[in-house]
Amino acid sequence: MLNVSVVNKRSNSSHSDVRRDVHNDVHGEVMRRFIKHNQRYTSQRRLIVTVLSDSDRPLMIQQMLKRSSNTKKVLAQSSLYRNLVVLEDVGVVQRIFSTDDVARYELNEDILGHHHHLVCSKCGDIRDVRIPESLESSLDTALAKIAKSSGFQLDQHRLDLIGRCGKCR
Ligand SMILES: [Zn+2]
Ligand SMILES: [Zn+2]
Repeated sequence: MLNVSVVNKRSNSSHSDVRRDVHNDVHGEVMRRFIKHNQRYTSQRRLIVTVLSDSDRPLMIQQMLKRSSNTKKVLAQSSLYRNLVVLEDVGVVQRIFSTDDVARYELNEDILGHHHHLVCSKCGDIRDVRIPESLESSLDTALAKIAKSSGFQLDQHRLDLIGRCGKCR
């Protein structure tokens, strides 16, 4: 991976040291993907990426609109869906499904960095959570063993923690 850094706005937590493979220059990396796909990285698309990149969780459409209203530029609802499709197509954004069937969006993990999700089974809210690097490697080792015994080549893992969030406990 190019341009790897452990510094990112989303990492301003006690876990700032555990991120891996995070793109410091998010917009630069996104721009490269747009160029590769012959698409234009318009100001609306840039705003969507900024809103997602500043968030500590995958966002629903309404949350994205609300958060963009705090910025100088306004995210147009009419074009948000269309732009999200393009952002998915060029490999920048992915859709995350929760327990409530409402689509949420986040930047692809190879831009955002490896992380896990705390999923609330009551309200459907999802929060990003990062596991210390040492625990990640133990996890990778254990999972690789399990995969190998099934004749499976492990490339990556996803792990959701399901439960109830602070509001729903
Ligand atoms: Zn909840
Ligand atoms: Zn992990």
